[in-house]
Amino acid sequence: MECTRCQSINRSTAKYCKKCGAALPINVSLKNGQLQFEPDFNKIVGLQELKTMIQREIIAARNMKKVGFPYNKKNLNMILLGNTGTGKNKLVDIVARVYFKNGITSKPDIKSISAVEFNEFSKNMAANLLSAKDGILFIDNAHQLVPDGYKPGEITQMDKLYAELEKTTEHPIIVLASKAEGFSKYLEENPEVNIMVN
Ligand SMILES: [Zn+2]
Repeated sequence: MECTRCQSINRSTAKYCKKCGAALPINVSLKNGQLQFEPDFNKIVGLQELKTMIQREIIAARNMKKVGFPYNKKNLNMILLGNTGTGKNKLVDIVARVYFKNGITSKPDIKSISAVEFNEFSKNMAANLLSAKDGILFIDNAHQLVPDGYKPGEITQMDKLYAELEKTTEHPIIVLASKAEGFSKYLEENPEVNIMVN
């Protein structure tokens, strides 16, 4: 198992890299198992997977700090798929407290914006991301970042966010929440978005 952080080769059963302490890739499938994603699309999560992922990353962040490797909070970017009333907002609150308590973020705040506000946010995207960098940026109804009748190859708000995140590590942890319908198709067709949530 090759470490994506430092390229060391680890035992196939290893959970963390022996050299740098990063969490090694695992594959997590959706709870209902109905959707097939790219193999390493591993941050679209059900609750159990979410807990496991968070635990792994917190341990990895500590391991890496010990040996002096910078931990990239990008590993905590995630997409929560679920219908209205499945408690996504509450979940993000809990996650924010866990990160803060464990020193992953330096403030327990969540900057919440809805997808319709994203237009405004994106006008000054770099500065807005920078100002939220020590906490979490939560974007609800993220399926609205992809227009109805989306055609593969079309540039979407989602792509703009992704492109901005590629430029810098000075950004908050990004949590997108969406209903699965309408969004999972976009994700399937855009495997490069994997990198953002990976
Ligand atoms: Zn490593």
